[in-house]
Amino acid sequence: MKPLIVANWKCSPVTLKEAKQLFNSVARGIKNIKNVETVICPPFIYLPILGVSAFAKGFGGLRLGSQDCFWEEGGAFTGEVSPKMLKDLGVKYVILGHSERRKYQNETDEIINKKLKAALKIGLYPILCVGDKNRESKGGIKEISLQLEEDLRGLENADLSKLAVAYEPIWAISTTKGGVAATIDNVKWAVFYIKNVLAKLFGEDITKKIKIIYGGSVDSENAKGYIKKANFNGLLVGGASLNAKEFIKIIKAAV
Ligand code: PEP
Repeated sequence: MKPLIVANWKCSPVTLKEAKQLFNSVARGIKNIKNVETVICPPFIYLPILGVSAFAKGFGGLRLGSQDCFWEEGGAFTGEVSPKMLKDLGVKYVILGHSERRKYQNETDEIINKKLKAALKIGLYPILCVGDKNRESKGGIKEISLQLEEDLRGLENADLSKLAVAYEPIWAISTTKGGVAATIDNVKWAVFYIKNVLAKLFGEDITKKIKIIYGGSVDSENAKGYIKKANFNGLLVGGASLNAKEFIKIIKAAV
């Protein structure tokens, strides 16, 4: 399984010029790296521009992802971007259920479930984010299985080989107040546990194909440990993905 390294740019950078510079620097830096699937998830508005630039310059190894999508194909839904529009643009991945959308846009598991179904139906590769709120809380594990069960409800017949699950403990995200990276001990249970929940829902065979990645204050120093020691199949990188040199180092650490 190729490691999946995803850059979540969130609502940055705030100018097109910076977005192009960042994208082009990463694309140049990983030109010769073949055995990692690298995905850039910029704000929606930059997707077509970066996509055209990627194709024109032959940056074949770099994939595009969006940070969200709507659940309908189109119609009277002001402000929304549909999975079909993304697919048509050449976007491959879509992040769904990010904790910031759960918090600031009040996204419920029911909404995330509808978006997941729509994304899979059109052939996008969803990256479903789940995560517990408190480092000390014993309820963390339960919180994650509930999110998985509700977000993935009714997906038995979908092509789940396209799905990745990102375990993002909210207490480890760099922008959470006091947020610090999880230690290997903090998270080494997660891949096994999440796979167990998935196997109960969908069976062992399909579960083997689903990537489980880690997100939360990943940097070039800690990246390797999550993959080599905690057995994650990749990383979701927020803050550090806005620095091309640091992000390239993270990708190299994952090889
Ligand atoms: C995120 O919010 O998805 C994330 C992983 O952020 P950071 O790497 O900045 O903690």
